Amino acid sequence: MKIICIGRNYADHASELGHTVPSEPLFFLKPDSAVLAHRHPFYLPDWSQEVHYEVELLVRISKLGKSIAPEFAHRYCDAISLGIDFTARDVQAELKSMGHPWEKAKAFDGSAVISRDWLPIDSLTGGGLQSIGFRLERNGVVVQEGQSKDMIFSIDQLIAYVSKFMTLKLGDVLFTGTPAGVGPAHPGDTLEGFIGDRSMFRVPVR
Ligand code: ZN
Repeated sequence: MKIICIGRNYADHASELGHTVPSEPLFFLKPDSAVLAHRHPFYLPDWSQEVHYEVELLVRISKLGKSIAPEFAHRYCDAISLGIDFTARDVQAELKSMGHPWEKAKAFDGSAVISRDWLPIDSLTGGGLQSIGFRLERNGVVVQEGQSKDMIFSIDQLIAYVSKFMTLKLGDVLFTGTPAGVGPAHPGDTLEGFIGDRSMFRVPVR
């Protein structure tokens, strides 16, 4: 299983990091070893002084596909969920400045929180994938809020784009990018993510 993460998919987050809105999706991978085990705390790595939370909607790939057309992309995913793309921001900034890949800052152990609960796309009411509201609370205070309709590239466009370069497989997980409000996690914090009013994960930070 691979984890594909989209960067800068919400205009308000791109601008808070000083980036312009991208003309095509930006993506990177996390290995399966990055997945934080369920019910485990997230341990801040000792080699970074600034690890940020990034709450993101997740999409589960349900079928093998390559070079998928956007109009057929919905056939290749079957459920959504919520997660955190933990990012060692200080390390990432250093890597970016040298033009190096981001793996050390993005792919480390525990850096991918994936809720155990998956919501079947068929079961979504209202506007379906276009109207999913989600948020992250840090110690009970809302720090990030997002709406799927505010994505720069839709889920269908993301699946089409990524599958031009790499085959998508059953069980792969797509992190669809974070809205504004990213910030540092501190020891003792509790990070809880919601889709609508449903709690999707609760992660203590150590
Ligand atoms: Zn992210």
